[in-house]
Amino acid sequence: MMKTTSLIALLILLLFTISCQRSADFLKGDAVTYRHDLEMGVSANDLLTSTKYKSLVIEIQYLSLDFVPDTRVADHLKTLLGERLNKPEGVSIVTKQIQPSTQIFGIDQIKSIEETSRTEFTKGSCLAVYILYLNGYYAADSLVLGAAYRNTSLAVFGKSISDHAAGDSLNRLLFDATVIEHEFGHLLGLVDQATPAITDHKDLPNGNHCTNRNCLMHYSFLDSHDAQYPNGLASVPVMDSACVADLRANGGR
Ligand SMILES: [Zn+2]
Ligand SMILES: [Zn+2]
Repeated sequence: MMKTTSLIALLILLLFTISCQRSADFLKGDAVTYRHDLEMGVSANDLLTSTKYKSLVIEIQYLSLDFVPDTRVADHLKTLLGERLNKPEGVSIVTKQIQPSTQIFGIDQIKSIEETSRTEFTKGSCLAVYILYLNGYYAADSLVLGAAYRNTSLAVFGKSISDHAAGDSLNRLLFDATVIEHEFGHLLGLVDQATPAITDHKDLPNGNHCTNRNCLMHYSFLDSHDAQYPNGLASVPVMDSACVADLRANGGR
């Protein structure tokens, strides 16, 4: 279903247009000096380099035990980030269940949940990223699988992924990891957003995505491969050399 993932791209474009809306007190507590309420991509260089931030903590929150990313998915993400980011003091992941809510989520509601529930913020030399793993669908379109909606925040629509995986647990692992890692790629500024493309691989008709259909940052990887994915996490697409080169040029590994 090509539209499934092309809508991720559409959603990201939509978010650019509304990103100037800010909640008055979001993440401005006494101990919080870092702005977490900015546009997707703004923190790409902070994520990639060790100049200011030498470690990274990722907080994953979920609403339902039926919709929680497997620890193997979190480990897979951690491995990817260990390979691509300059964080000499490491990447850690903390996972927590928060209060259940409705099963259909609009962007304002997602932001509100984060503002109420997020506990990990950038402090000292440790940068913080928030992943909200929802137990429902995106309100505007049930086929959207994930969205990077702020500079250090992304959401995953677990029910949509579950539908897409059609009860196959290996596919669920694959889709969870692919969506989370793809959206994280947008936080890193790919493709040609906050991190400039140093070769011509931006998929112009599909927004900030890669032209290589085998790349993690292709807009429709999950739909461009018709066969089943018997290998689960072993089938998660990797960033191709063009995307990796962009990250390196912006301070990554
Ligand atoms: Zn995307
Ligand atoms: Zn690529």
